[in-house]
Amino acid sequence: MRGRLRMLLYSAGIAAGWQIASRLAHGEPVETKRAAADQVAARVKMVKEQIEARGVRHPGVLKAMRETPRHLFVPESQQQYAYADSPLAIGHGQTISQPYIVASMSELLDPRPGDRVLEIGTGSGYQAAVLSQLVKHVYTIEIVPELAREAAELLPKLGYTNVAVRCGNGWLGWPEEAPFNKIILTAAPPELPPVLIHQLKPGGRLVAPVGEEWQELVVVNKDAAGRLDRHTEYGVVFVPMVGKPK
Ligand code: SAH
Repeated sequence: MRGRLRMLLYSAGIAAGWQIASRLAHGEPVETKRAAADQVAARVKMVKEQIEARGVRHPGVLKAMRETPRHLFVPESQQQYAYADSPLAIGHGQTISQPYIVASMSELLDPRPGDRVLEIGTGSGYQAAVLSQLVKHVYTIEIVPELAREAAELLPKLGYTNVAVRCGNGWLGWPEEAPFNKIILTAAPPELPPVLIHQLKPGGRLVAPVGEEWQELVVVNKDAAGRLDRHTEYGVVFVPMVGKPK
């Protein structure tokens, strides 16, 4: 495995239920005060030991990572690992990224309060929730209908009201809402989708894992004249971005 590889993926496939989401749906209390305090302490530790220790400095990102209840975005069976240094299975063969990767990609996106952001690969909705605290609006697309539906229900319940979830194919972007100040891919295409570059505003930035089995995390800046500048940050492993149009 590559030295610079910072993310390990579990081979997912655990058909896990979203008991927490469904309990929220039925209005039952999800956790006691004591349990909630333990989760806060776990997040403070996670940010210090996994995220700041690896060099993420953006104060807003660190704050959002401290405040977003990652345990409510994973199936109940995974909750005990919610603040561990790893990705987790969220069902449907998909994963929620390692906390450090979420923080690092959020920082790389250079989030600004006025930004409208497009995310490809909603998954659990956690990355969208983190970004929603740093920008004006997040538009997120998920190709698995159940995941899209669950995230669309969970996000507003947890108070993340500036996130729009669409079930669809990220290869097509979201033309009705384009262009976007920032675009983040959390599923990996073999090469950058031209449609998404097109939907990026001049002065905007796109962050994406690009490649096949292993990927490079690529940052693309589009200048005011529309010229592209591309560089690579580090090696990653994400689930593939499926559904590439023929
Ligand atoms: N950002 C997520 C994790 C993403 S996992 C989180 O915070 O939990 C990658 C997700 O991308 C999976 O849910 C997968 O179903 C989705 N995906 C894969 N190909 C896609 C495509 N073409 N369009 C939209 N979503 C896609």
